[in-house]
Amino acid sequence: MHTIVVGAGIAGVSTAYELALRGAEVTLIDQREGAGLGTSYANGGQLSACEVAPWAGPEVPGLVLKWLGRDDAPFRLRPKMDPEQWLWLMRFLMRCRASARRERIAPNLELALLTRARLAAYEEEFAKAGMILDYGRKDRGILRIFRDAHEFDEAAREAEPIAKMGVGQTKLTPAQCIDLEPALAPAMQRGDIAGGLYAASDGSGDAHLYSVALAEGAKRLGVRFLTEVDVRRLVVEGARVKGVETAAGLVEGDAVVLAAGTGTQALLRPLGHRSYIYPVKGYSVTLPAPEGNAPEVSITDEARKIVVSRLGDRLRAAGQAEVGGYDLTLEEARARSVMDALESLFPQMGPARGGAEYWCGLRPMTPDGSPVLGAVPQFSNLYVNSGHGTLGWTLGAGSGAAVADMVCGSTSQLDLRPFSIRRFQ
Ligand SMILES: Cc1cc2nc3c(=O)[nH]c(=O)nc-3n(C[C@H](O)[C@H](O)[C@H](O)COP(=O)(O)OP(=O)(O)OC[C@H]3O[C@@H](n4cnc5c(N)ncnc54)[C@H](O)[C@@H]3O)c2cc1C
Repeated sequence: MHTIVVGAGIAGVSTAYELALRGAEVTLIDQREGAGLGTSYANGGQLSACEVAPWAGPEVPGLVLKWLGRDDAPFRLRPKMDPEQWLWLMRFLMRCRASARRERIAPNLELALLTRARLAAYEEEFAKAGMILDYGRKDRGILRIFRDAHEFDEAAREAEPIAKMGVGQTKLTPAQCIDLEPALAPAMQRGDIAGGLYAASDGSGDAHLYSVALAEGAKRLGVRFLTEVDVRRLVVEGARVKGVETAAGLVEGDAVVLAAGTGTQALLRPLGHRSYIYPVKGYSVTLPAPEGNAPEVSITDEARKIVVSRLGDRLRAAGQAEVGGYDLTLEEARARSVMDALESLFPQMGPARGGAEYWCGLRPMTPDGSPVLGAVPQFSNLYVNSGHGTLGWTLGAGSGAAVADMVCGSTSQLDLRPFSIRRFQ
């Protein structure tokens, strides 16, 4: 069976690799020059099973109003004359309830745990073939720090159900946070840390390196990888997708998986389907990490709204959310505000500022914070693996495995019903 996978970000390469492991013939297509050059290029690096709750929650509408009009606000809304944006926003606001947030935790967590297992399996696979799957993985855990004592207590309470499902987070005093990550000492001295929640079993890694390495691994298993090929539309024959139309002609396949991130919606729309995937822009900064002075443990700073990950000899900080369409212009003020937040948390990183690389990317977000996985109704051979939003790295490999199972007709390792596109219809 020949399967076409559109998109070679975390989601697409994981799907292609998983399909190849199951013996399928696969063509992976991307409009860019290589793998992992879209949103998977420079994300926050966190593999964060401890933080799988969706962004939509009861506190969000108030925060949006508070930040309205501020250029450096962590969240910004840029209204467009675009019905897709308004429909997305309406659905997002409808999800800003505690019960709606709770409902998504269990399925997302299962997917995150499957991702952990698949990443470990890929490393073994590579080792068997005499190769190393190297993406700068660090298993030093994730520490969430809080400035506000009330927010800290609240977060600790919210972490309890996640702990019951297998990802425990230890409550730490400010002094214990410093014992764990001495690079936080300046922040503690300023009184910036009321407490921390530490998920020892989480970690971090470079999603771009992963995408490139796994695409190479997929090619070794026989996957054909077409780069700089733009998929213009899906070619449909009755209830089947015959293939994809590209500038170089029609590529035919027995099944098609859409893993095109924020490009997924444009391919689905002409077929009369809405995925409710909409772009939410974020920024990152990557800079050289001075030996012995930069953090090793991945950090989520809940007050500054940034995540920080050590990627080999570099440090990356990421944050910001802007609902403003598909524009990928890098706005200096917003990029710098991520750097400023990083420097205020780790003043010792100030001198490295000159070597900072700024980047922005579009998170493919659904309103409810879970990806869209599985079959598209009315078509017998069309599947989606997209819409991972803030969690594509945390959920990507597991999504690839679950969708590959479905395409191949194997018993899935995961109940895909909570991720079905039907939930929006
Ligand atoms: C600032 C920021 C920080 C983040 N931090 C984290 C984090 O710490 N942890 C985490 O888990 N997640 C994080 N994320 C989210 C994560 O990066 C994304 O969810 C993930 O990269 C999405 O992967 P993807 O493969 O779905 O999309 P992409 O990586 O965008 O891949 C889609 C691919 O499809 C291709 N494509 C699109 N349309 C077409 C077409 N018509 N024809 C051919 N090719 C096409 C694109 O070129 C692209 O390569 C972050 C995101 C941002 C922006």
